[in-house]
Amino acid sequence: MSKNYRSELVGAFGCPIDENPTGVMEEAAFAAAGLDYRYLTIKVDKEEIETAMKAVRALHMRGINLTIPHKVSAIPFVDELSPEAQIIGAINIVVNNNGVLWGDNTDGKGFLKSLTDRDISVKGKTITVLGAGGASRAICVVCALQGASRLHIINGSVERGSELVALLTEKTPAKADLIPWESTSAVPDDTDILINATSVGLYPNVDQKPDIDYDTIKSGTVVCDVIFNDPNSLFLREAAQRGAVTVNGLGMLVNQGALNFKLWTGQEAPVDVMTETLQREFGL
Ligand code: NDP
Repeated sequence: MSKNYRSELVGAFGCPIDENPTGVMEEAAFAAAGLDYRYLTIKVDKEEIETAMKAVRALHMRGINLTIPHKVSAIPFVDELSPEAQIIGAINIVVNNNGVLWGDNTDGKGFLKSLTDRDISVKGKTITVLGAGGASRAICVVCALQGASRLHIINGSVERGSELVALLTEKTPAKADLIPWESTSAVPDDTDILINATSVGLYPNVDQKPDIDYDTIKSGTVVCDVIFNDPNSLFLREAAQRGAVTVNGLGMLVNQGALNFKLWTGQEAPVDVMTETLQREFGL
């Protein structure tokens, strides 16, 4: 039998990308599963995304992750989109099925899995989301499609916030409204789940927290952060002091990585290996 010296190639396109830890996590998972896959962390400038997407086909790569600033701009260069990606309007993963590029968005699904892993359901819940950027859109759409009844979006840019509310109202069964973020914002009284989906608190700015009135968080509220470095963010620590049940951003990062692993390889991901690798990487 002839030997195969060609590894399956996957990776990420982004800019900036140098500090993105996904490759370490995915390579550890491939090694643990005994798969001959390589994950390449590749810097692709904004204006080069078309060329880079052509390279996925030309190099017979199995797929690619997309991060800032390519999650929306890469869409014209894929052939098919998952239903969720069509609604969200952004992709973070492409699978190359024999030259047919299929795009999906696993950010929201990864977030949801970090809740279901803790036996927390979004069905019938009222969710308050801080931020209306890419992570927020993915989380809001998936929660709305999974049965959340109402979403309050708190955002600084009214334009971006209104766009998300319109998208949720038109394309999902959930009710949605915008609360303009003008000064220290109160958490709406009916909130079951509060999510920080802004970039506030991301390393190195670990001493920053979203400008909300933390005393309006009720004891027992589920409070989640997308920030994964530091996973024990100031936002979550403030919420925990008010008796909240907290869910950090590490679970979302690992779970979206695990979903991507499965989409590329067809195998279940070794989630424990991925979690341990990231924790080691972040010095936890
Ligand atoms: P975007 O740039 O698309 O959106 C950023 C959002 O944060 C906007 O709504 C913006 O508001 C808001 N924002 C930024 N600064 C402030 C501030 N000082 N006060 C209030 N709101 C603010 O980024 P993404 O949505 O792509 O990413 C957001 C965060 O999510 C990042 O930190 C990223 O690392 C993290 N993330 C984590 C993942 C995980 O797996 N854990 C996966 C994906 C992302 P405005 O509209 O007013 O500008």
